[in-house]
Amino acid sequence: MDNRAFRKYAHEIVDWMADYLEQVEHLPVKAQTEPGDIFNQIPDHPPEEGEEMAEIFIDFMKIIIPGMTHWQSPNFFAYFPANSSYPSVLAEMLTATLGAQCMKWETSPAAAELEEKMMNWLKEMTGLPGYFHGVIQDSASTATLVAILTAREKMSDYQVNERGLKWFDNFRVYCSSETHSSIEKAIKIAGLGRQNLVRVGVDSQQRMDPQLLKQSIASDLKVSNKPVCVVATLGTTGTTAIDPLKEIAAICSRHGIWLHVDAAFAGSALILPEYRWMIKGIGQADSFVFNPHKWLFTNFDCSAYFVKDKYALLRTLQVVPEYLRTADQGRVNDYCDWSVPLGRRFRALKLWFVLRSFGVKALQEKLRLHLSLAQELSEMISRDEEFELMAPVTLNLVCFRYKPKGIVDEDELNKINEDLLKRINKSSKAYMTHTKIDGKFAIRMVVAQTNVAKRHVVNAWKLVQSSKGKVQS
Ligand SMILES: *Cc1c(COP(=O)(O)O)cnc(C)c1O
Repeated sequence: MDNRAFRKYAHEIVDWMADYLEQVEHLPVKAQTEPGDIFNQIPDHPPEEGEEMAEIFIDFMKIIIPGMTHWQSPNFFAYFPANSSYPSVLAEMLTATLGAQCMKWETSPAAAELEEKMMNWLKEMTGLPGYFHGVIQDSASTATLVAILTAREKMSDYQVNERGLKWFDNFRVYCSSETHSSIEKAIKIAGLGRQNLVRVGVDSQQRMDPQLLKQSIASDLKVSNKPVCVVATLGTTGTTAIDPLKEIAAICSRHGIWLHVDAAFAGSALILPEYRWMIKGIGQADSFVFNPHKWLFTNFDCSAYFVKDKYALLRTLQVVPEYLRTADQGRVNDYCDWSVPLGRRFRALKLWFVLRSFGVKALQEKLRLHLSLAQELSEMISRDEEFELMAPVTLNLVCFRYKPKGIVDEDELNKINEDLLKRINKSSKAYMTHTKIDGKFAIRMVVAQTNVAKRHVVNAWKLVQSSKGKVQS
């Protein structure tokens, strides 16, 4: 392809992009494909000769689009969203065009310096302490891994890095039983051993019980285990429960334990002063992560990681072979030393575009709209006697189930709701997912998609109501 053809197709594709985003709410939100449907339509062998872009694009529409779940549809209420927005997409186009590999300051000074500034903006917007140092990670999973590795190194006086884990088999990490799976993954990768992850019990609202945390730590200390890190969650994946950070922070600081805060989804709400109560106690936290790629309209991937002791992080991860030595070492941020991979995409650009294009006020308004729509949804659910809310609506996630009169058997209720969810998603008019709360099947509806409006929420709720009575297919 030459530059002329690129220009022509770029214009055509941008038109397609604008049409797609305009129409996306009318597409079946969840892909209704069977395993292998797409695979079997792709030739088994790559083409010997180059093909026309026009042909490639036709196949994109014919084969790929029907196999996509439309995450940017305002009828998407599943999981947590992976939000995007117009300014973010524009920046991603530019990032792809520049095609820069932003591992070190020298490999693109603008990328490194914009990243530092954007992390400072986010700090100010969310009310995080000014002394935190920010870096963009690809995901919250990586950020949590990095936190646990740093905690491990600090506790071993950087000796695990030197001598391996053999001498340190008693390191313990604590989280609640409701914590995201990425914590367990990080423990496995960090070599600490899954058995050294202590899952602390939760209260009736799924929040970590600080009394139980205290007890777990005390009994570990008795047998000479070393408490290394506590992971507190603000906004659990199941129900967006908010762990009591202040109490947890006090325990951590008494024992010199690294406190990592996982606010992957809920962290965006900190741009609203009325949600800052969630981070009372943040002064004693060592690290914090939230995902602008979930609920701050910035394309996946963009995870904001903040750490108090930047030198501990650098000492944990930094490796400088001769071919990576640069003259500015130490005077600038070489972000490859702050994260697991060497190579880095230019992710700060989309954040810059989003924060400038929206402005803080419009971002706040959007989040407040989502939060109030979730409240309205929970009120609609409460008014229907055949449904019940399954957890407090702390933010914009509503957990509920269908509970027809006369049915009390929990297994039967689980089955009824599982079937109901299947019918809802089969309709392709909305997409929701589920969780289990104390063993009870609950349908989750997250109201956070970039363009979700009241009518989408009302229609989705009507869809739930009208799907409940149908006989099983
Ligand atoms: C989504 C989520 C994660 C994982 O985020 P990734 O960026 O996909 O790794 C971790 N913790 C919580 C609480 C989450 O909601």
